[in-house]
Amino acid sequence: MSPIDYLRGEHSALTELRRDLHAHPELGFEEHRTAQIVAAELDRLYVEYHSGVGRTGVVAVIRGQRNDSGRAVGLRADMDALPMHEENEFAHVSRFKGRMHGCGHDGHTTMLLGAARYLASTRNFDGTVYLIFQPGEEGFAGGKAICRPGPSRCGRAR
Ligand SMILES: [Zn+2]
Repeated sequence: MSPIDYLRGEHSALTELRRDLHAHPELGFEEHRTAQIVAAELDRLYVEYHSGVGRTGVVAVIRGQRNDSGRAVGLRADMDALPMHEENEFAHVSRFKGRMHGCGHDGHTTMLLGAARYLASTRNFDGTVYLIFQPGEEGFAGGKAICRPGPSRCGRAR
């Protein structure tokens, strides 16, 4: 099945996930709930991951059916929201004053979880995919934070 055909089947679940993230925005390095949702999804997929990377980041590791190539690729999404007030009126409007997913990171996080669903379901590739859920993109240098060596907690490994 092509990735697009596979993801059509996940569309409504992923929409629900994005709306939930949209309703619960968290600022840089405060993405605790978001990181928990990411970790819960990865647990459900039996994907190995490391949480608490660069404080609130999560890095997942999906190994292909083969690794003859020894290649690896990283896919990245950012998770934090902006300190601004949301004036939308739809049901999944931000529940918090002064916090809004106005930069689309709710969508980015959901897209990467969509990729995780597809890649973990087939593992039909040669090499390793690292999924990097980055904290603190909006001016907090979260990318630098996750590159620094430091303590992290390991999730379930397959
Ligand atoms: Zn942004």
